Amino acid sequence: MKKSTYGLTAWLFLIIAVVITSMMLFQNSKALTSITADKFETMWKNNQIKSIEVNSDGRISTVEIVANDNNRYSTSIASTRLDDFLKDNANDTVTQKYKEPTTIPVWVQFLPTGILIIFTVMMMVMFMNQSQGGGGRGVMSFGKSKAQKATNDKKVTFKDVAGEDEEKAELEEVVDFLKYPKKYRDMGARIPKGVLLVGPPGTGKTLLAKAVAGEAGVAFFSISGSDFVEMFVGVGASRVRDLFETAKKNSPCIIFIDEIDAVARQRGAGLGGGHDEREQTLNQLLVEMDGFGIHEDIIVIAATNRPDILDKAILRPGRFDRQILVGAPDAKGREEILKVHSKNKPLAEDVNLKTLAKRTPGFTGADLENLMNEASILSVRARKSTITMEELEEAITRVIAGPEKKSRVISEKDRKLTAYHEAGHAIVMRNLPNADPVHQISIIPRGSAGGYTMHLPEEDRSYMSKEGLKDEMVSLLGGRVAEKLILGDISTGASNDIERATNIARSMVMKYGMSDKLGTIAFGDEQGEVFLGRDFGRSKNYSEEVAAEIDEEIKMFITEAYNRSETILIENMDKLHLVAKALLEKEKLEADEFESLISTGKYPDGSSVEEISEKKKESEDISTEVKEENDKEMTLEDFEKKDL
Ligand code: ADP
Ligand code: MG
Ligand code: ZN
Repeated sequence: MKKSTYGLTAWLFLIIAVVITSMMLFQNSKALTSITADKFETMWKNNQIKSIEVNSDGRISTVEIVANDNNRYSTSIASTRLDDFLKDNANDTVTQKYKEPTTIPVWVQFLPTGILIIFTVMMMVMFMNQSQGGGGRGVMSFGKSKAQKATNDKKVTFKDVAGEDEEKAELEEVVDFLKYPKKYRDMGARIPKGVLLVGPPGTGKTLLAKAVAGEAGVAFFSISGSDFVEMFVGVGASRVRDLFETAKKNSPCIIFIDEIDAVARQRGAGLGGGHDEREQTLNQLLVEMDGFGIHEDIIVIAATNRPDILDKAILRPGRFDRQILVGAPDAKGREEILKVHSKNKPLAEDVNLKTLAKRTPGFTGADLENLMNEASILSVRARKSTITMEELEEAITRVIAGPEKKSRVISEKDRKLTAYHEAGHAIVMRNLPNADPVHQISIIPRGSAGGYTMHLPEEDRSYMSKEGLKDEMVSLLGGRVAEKLILGDISTGASNDIERATNIARSMVMKYGMSDKLGTIAFGDEQGEVFLGRDFGRSKNYSEEVAAEIDEEIKMFITEAYNRSETILIENMDKLHLVAKALLEKEKLEADEFESLISTGKYPDGSSVEEISEKKKESEDISTEVKEENDKEMTLEDFEKKDL
């Protein structure tokens, strides 16, 4: 089919070339000033004409005129009139030339019609080719599904999916059915037609679906939900029809619809145009799923990260009646995923995947893959032969916060502000019973953040206690409180902290029922957030008085957290100064350095903060002196360093 598409392009080029050439051939108007026949006759009679050239087709003559002043004109005149005129006004001084009448060749006259006929025939042939199931995807194949049949050369199996044992176990059944459909049918079992994989992005849903196909060894048609949604109404529905047609021909097989939420959103929701098309597509999908009977061994696997916005109709039994939650992996799962993705990478002796897995709570499979990849790139950049823990540590921070921006110019004032802000977070965290231990503090800008304080949960947790949430708010506000206490001024740098703290407080009151005053009630309609259309028409399920009380409670939680944060920092003022100074000096503090500063006031090697800063200054002074003597030119970077 590829060949015919190629042929078509060649034909089109040929046609265009012919048209252009013929246009050039027959376009011989040399842009003469055209005049009326009367004017020509007057000029003739006044002896203003040097020569004429007559081109007659028998009825009309075109006369090209060269006047005495060498200006050129042209006129059209009835041939009989011209003949009579020239007879009556014979004039020997004017050179008269007659051209042979050029008749346009017959084939040229019929050229446009011919082209049209050829074109039409070609189109018909093309359409016929396609409806015969050529499987091609030419220019005109809007209604064809874009589903791609997976090739077998890069087969994914369950071995490539690390962790996720429960998910795999559930899918094992699907694989078994596709392999031995008879076994199940004899038992009278109804095998699910559709399996919905639900989970956040990057958790391996697409990978799992591919692995099912790989394990079962059946055809695998994959299509993305957004492929159904096109500009033209009705295209999506026709694609769905086509997809199922193809699948039926290839059964047993798997149809995989990725990002199904693009088509299967709740009908009748949303604002603006464009859902008619989606609704038609969804309806067609439902019809098709109901349509194939138990004897067609087709299983539809769909993936989404927004199960909440799916139309209820798609979830009922007989359609996607089986849902598999694909969650972010736990520590053990992460270790296994890391193992899979470090298979072809030269890891150094010191690398411990277990430690890495512990260090990366909340990472998805995609994050972990990205992490290993970043580490390899960093190792290449550092010209190392193996990937060491150092690169892996840096890669983790990169994945979380983006690469360091050491080149960004920061004023000394901003640096001080960031140092106290981050030190504030860290000290507060250190003094809270329910907060995670501080892992790293940095004032090197990363991504959009000026600095960060990283804490590390000791274990994965799925629930937060009320006290834990309260403590989190306290540590989030630590940055702002430190700014206020030390510098007497506050900055915009804390906006994200404040936003997060407020969100926690709001959730505690409205979602988790943690407010003593309002009691264990959930306020507001969580689901409504998704749709703009519903948002507008959303009615609050509580009164204005309660709304005011909710605001009061949120404010109370925040104020309480702020005050606790302030108390902690005032009590630990000396430590705040110490850590901030250390940060200004080293830019980054690791967990052990921070711990040592807090408990002994010194770095782990026993040196104190001021001492180092003195030493650093001295050596810097010396090196700049030497530099100034030796170097004629100073780079911008040196210049900045000196400035600091
Ligand atoms: P999703 O479809 O859920 O958004 P993908 O299946 O596309 O996620 O996963 C993206 C990548 O992350 C995969 O190509 C794979 O390299 C990696 N990955 C995710 N989960 C796992 C896992 N459990 N085991 C191994 N690799 C994984
Ligand atoms: Mg995916
Ligand atoms: Zn902060």
